[in-house]
Amino acid sequence: MNLLNAVPSILATPQKWNRHVYIRRKCRKVGAGLKETLFSKRGAHILKEMMIVQLQTIFNTEAPNKSTRIIGGECSGILNWNDIRMPHMYKLYKVLLLNHWIADEIPMSKDAQQFARMDSEEQRTFKINISLLAVLDSMQTMFVGDVKRYFTDSSLEAISAIIGQQEVVHNQSYSYVLSSIVSDQEQKEVFEYWKHDPVLLERNKFISDIYQNFRDDSNPQTFYEALVADLILEGIFFYSTFAFFYNLARDQKMMGTSQMISYIQRDENQHCYFFAEVFKQLLADYPELDTPANKEYAYRTINRAVELETNWAYYTLKEVKGIDLEELSDYIKYIANRRLNLMGMEKAYEGVDVNCMPWIKPFSDDALNATKTDFFEAKSRNYGKVGDDNGFDDL
Ligand code: ZN
Ligand code: ZN
Repeated sequence: MNLLNAVPSILATPQKWNRHVYIRRKCRKVGAGLKETLFSKRGAHILKEMMIVQLQTIFNTEAPNKSTRIIGGECSGILNWNDIRMPHMYKLYKVLLLNHWIADEIPMSKDAQQFARMDSEEQRTFKINISLLAVLDSMQTMFVGDVKRYFTDSSLEAISAIIGQQEVVHNQSYSYVLSSIVSDQEQKEVFEYWKHDPVLLERNKFISDIYQNFRDDSNPQTFYEALVADLILEGIFFYSTFAFFYNLARDQKMMGTSQMISYIQRDENQHCYFFAEVFKQLLADYPELDTPANKEYAYRTINRAVELETNWAYYTLKEVKGIDLEELSDYIKYIANRRLNLMGMEKAYEGVDVNCMPWIKPFSDDALNATKTDFFEAKSRNYGKVGDDNGFDDL
């Protein structure tokens, strides 16, 4: 029997030839024959080990500077922005840098006065939503760090470093908001909510289980699943919370907080763009992942995320004046369709093609500078301008 013809189907496709050569080499290294590796019980174990994506080598003079694949590929490790496999990533890199901001620049004294005048229900809604955001960004810092180690593309690794840094800034902003408006003791309580609140726990665990799976068993399949989870976290799971804070801003309340939320939304939009590009490139690099079962996984997982986000809105926002929950539920579907579009997939929901809540969007710098409230007198940032020209704000 020709051994190559008998190779399991995952290795048998022509594009898997390189992996086959890699496996032969690896077999020699562990002292196992190819036949044994492919067909014996011990071999199955060795094979599984080998399918785990290898970490990028730090110093590899044998490999080309331009990556051959985003994960599991070859790349020397040096970064030359003028010689990268996905040239549009250079533009994203510059946009991310231009959007730099830090929480301490935003004055919070008016927010502190207004928070003290809110009723206890409104205060609780505010705090539980901050608690949600703090968990999402904490998880995200860890996930981006995990992904960064596996990229075999120096430009993607570099962008992950910046995105990871931005997630840390987001986390700092939540601590900064809380330290401005509540006592130390209350801050600590807010950072405990997520461990006990069943609704909050369910939606966070939904994502963390998928991220943990990628951390425990890093391979192209778990990476695919983790990218779907990423698009959900950054592209869907923030949105009823954004609605809550922008709704306060529409009443000129908690404007310092809303300014930070606006910066965070702008960052998250760009992160979505990045991970959607990575998602599409993963399918190009590993066409065997482009299966009906994986498509079904993406739709099923996103649909569950839409349910969880809608439940969250009904759970935390039902007493909030100015937010129509049916409208918000349509908006969540609308935003899910946008994410699917970004991932190169067909929309999942009909009848929600129009944005019914256009006020859920980052404030532009022009708007920030044009108004006269304290909020808009916040120190203007000199790094860059939010506008139509950077191309990533309205994803
Ligand atoms: Zn973030
Ligand atoms: Zn993010």
